[in-house]
Amino acid sequence: MAIKQLLKRTSGWLYLNSPVGRNQLQGAGVILMLHRVLADDPAAALPHRNELCVGPKAFEHLLVWLKKHFDCVPLMEIFQPGKVRSERPKITLTFDDGWRDNALNAYPLLQKYQVPASIFLSTDFIGSRQRFWWESIGETLWGSHGRRAQLLLITSLQQAGRPLPEPFAELDVERRSLALLHFLQSLKTLSPMTLNRLTDACPDESLPQALDWHQVRSLEASGLVRFGPHGASHAIFTGLDDQRLHEELSRSRDALRDGCSRPLPVYCYPNGDNDARVREQVATHGFPFALGTGTGIYRGTNDPLNLPRLGVSQRVACNPQLLSWRLYRGGRA
Ligand SMILES: [Zn+2]
Repeated sequence: MAIKQLLKRTSGWLYLNSPVGRNQLQGAGVILMLHRVLADDPAAALPHRNELCVGPKAFEHLLVWLKKHFDCVPLMEIFQPGKVRSERPKITLTFDDGWRDNALNAYPLLQKYQVPASIFLSTDFIGSRQRFWWESIGETLWGSHGRRAQLLLITSLQQAGRPLPEPFAELDVERRSLALLHFLQSLKTLSPMTLNRLTDACPDESLPQALDWHQVRSLEASGLVRFGPHGASHAIFTGLDDQRLHEELSRSRDALRDGCSRPLPVYCYPNGDNDARVREQVATHGFPFALGTGTGIYRGTNDPLNLPRLGVSQRVACNPQLLSWRLYRGGRA
């Protein structure tokens, strides 16, 4: 392990276990941000998946560590603390998008350790076969769906003016994954229409990627998981005109009202992007709280419509002490 990483882990541990650290975190809350829990740890560790995916072993390791150092509470307990005062800082888990693996791989472990969580759904995807472009394009380029599908997509990308960087195929696994990560990030600037067209050029998978409403309701019935909206189509809010923003907000809110018995009064911005106009609209649509992706800790003084979170990658889940280092730094990396 690199010296720097060792120092981060050790000073983070000291912070969490010292009176100074405990005092500073008294009354504060930590909101963790996750996306997917894959069935396989080495697959989750590759750079193009690392940020959005954790593996089951890493996730279990994280849950054990969290239970040791924190009170793991439902999200609303962070904003509206109950009467029970605790010495330990509070932490809560949030998952973005509504991936099917949240039910298949994350939930059994949440249940085993009795850790509550909130899942934020991009509601157009729930119960449909509509696919997340990042996943479909990324995995097709990675070769997960065969060489033929990969070549077809490479041609479509060329036609869209976004050719895959040249030596991609010759790189070793780690470098190829890193190159893919950078390439996928560069595609974020394409229009939703182009991204849809490219996603359509990827082969159909046998299973839908997103949760269905039956899964949503049974997770909710467990009492351990609650749900909130994360856009309808996952379009980035800051790029929408007022009318389309209103449609995204009302469609996602109404889908949650129809599909769940107790949806959260908390919105979660797609990609975290928000500005004053977006925040005002979210409040107008009946949400007193909203989650961004800015890193930080909840101390009761934050803008309730742009609450900070700490992202959990496979690397962090394997080394949760890195989280205490970020807490020590006030949420900065
Ligand atoms: Zn998202």
